[in-house]
Amino acid sequence: MYTDLQLYIDGEWHGGAGRKGEEVINPASGKSLGTLPHASRADLDRALAAADKGLAVWRATSAYDRGKVMRKAADLVRERVEHIARVMVQEQGKPFAEARIEVVTTADIIDWFAEEGRRAYGRIVPGRGKNVRQLVLQEPVGVVAAFTPWNFPTLTPVRKIAGALAAGCSIIVKASEETPGSCVELVKCFADAGLPKGVLNLVFGIPAEVSEHLIGADSVKKISFTGSVPVGKLLAGLAAKGMKRATMELGGHSPVVVFGDADPEKTADTIAAFKYRNAGQVCISPTRFYVQEGVYNRFLKRFTEFANNVKLGDGLDKDTTMGPLANARRLDAMEAIVNDAKSRGGKIVTGGKRRGNQGYFFEPTVITDVPDDSKIMTEEPFGPVAPIVPFKSFDEVVERANSLPFGLASYAFTTNTQTATMIGDALQSGMVGVNSVAISTPETPFGGIKESGYGQEGGIEGLEAYTNRKFISQG
Ligand code: NAD
Repeated sequence: MYTDLQLYIDGEWHGGAGRKGEEVINPASGKSLGTLPHASRADLDRALAAADKGLAVWRATSAYDRGKVMRKAADLVRERVEHIARVMVQEQGKPFAEARIEVVTTADIIDWFAEEGRRAYGRIVPGRGKNVRQLVLQEPVGVVAAFTPWNFPTLTPVRKIAGALAAGCSIIVKASEETPGSCVELVKCFADAGLPKGVLNLVFGIPAEVSEHLIGADSVKKISFTGSVPVGKLLAGLAAKGMKRATMELGGHSPVVVFGDADPEKTADTIAAFKYRNAGQVCISPTRFYVQEGVYNRFLKRFTEFANNVKLGDGLDKDTTMGPLANARRLDAMEAIVNDAKSRGGKIVTGGKRRGNQGYFFEPTVITDVPDDSKIMTEEPFGPVAPIVPFKSFDEVVERANSLPFGLASYAFTTNTQTATMIGDALQSGMVGVNSVAISTPETPFGGIKESGYGQEGGIEGLEAYTNRKFISQG
């Protein structure tokens, strides 16, 4: 069973009646799952007015009481985990086990922010004069407009929703039109938990039209976007016009550095599993593998074995370990990357092509012998393609790893403590995993530098993203 696709505005669900819409496609079959209604301009204006009213109610609710509603929503997400995960698999393609983990983490994120909202501390700064009290307070930033992509259909919305709600903001979410059902289910949990109407609104439509309308509205004070660098730049420009605060979680191209003292087999097992998660459609997916010469062959062999053992199939099949790509655009992108690599002397060690002619399946792929200026080494693949190349020295690999305009995530593996410290310091990215891939948790900041964006979600930073600091000098 899929879900009833609807908009959620001012505490009411709205179906397709009289509205334009689009089909939502199951990427494993290419078949339609249902029709998603698009919000009209009048719908968007109603959502804006509702969010304004919702803000007044919600910011006046204590953090303690806000937390109670949020924790109830988290409990409902957990109760409904099997259903939400099934909806997600059908529209996004990832294996059920991965979808389940995403939904459980979604609940954990709500819980984290429900608690953290009670710790939106200010401070008292000693005054210069005897009779002056200087207070620094955190206040909700106001109405938030959030735009989320199709690769993590509950995780990306919840980071924005939970951060905003914990801070006392109201929010309008435009989730992905390609994976809308999961977010509908998530929003239902908040609605059923008793969130006052207008505090959370969910809309869909033509992305450029919706974002322009919402970001241009006076009442919207904060933008949060997760998606590609070009769209991020466009939305950051719209936000700048109104001098609005923005958080931009954009693409990356994460280097993995495997030093000669690391265990090549153990490292390959860890990082290959992480590579093919969600068929590589993850912004922090490891995407460029630099392996020191001494362990290169052993690492490549084990990584390739892992790729060959991946079970490609419908995410609802029990044996599947990698699902289809989420849409036909990704298939085209994979083909372009592989063709470019081949034309530049690259060797396809395994995979390299589409599987079957139903749905959007692409084989787990390993490529070697690609030059640093090839497409795969310079553009985010966002798919199951792993280029593996050798390196000689620390300084050389740091230069190559840092050479791109992106800076979201990077990874390094070594058994030498000094090398671990040095590489953690040297890699230019918002998050670095050293002998670890656990770089995304509810409690820790998640975000990039350089063209990968600015601002963070998660951790205390994820709450501050939705507050303004106010200084009161009280005589
Ligand atoms: P895209 O650039 O067309 O869209 C990226 C996302 O932005 C989609 O969710 C889309 O609905 C949304 N979007 C597009 N135009 C918008 C607008 N004007 N206003 C608001 N939202 C808008 O690319 P795509 O084909 O969907 O995905 C391809 C690339 O996007 C990937 O290669 C990857 O780099 C990036 N991406 C990144 C993430 C991430 O988690 N950072 C997620 C999905 C996609």
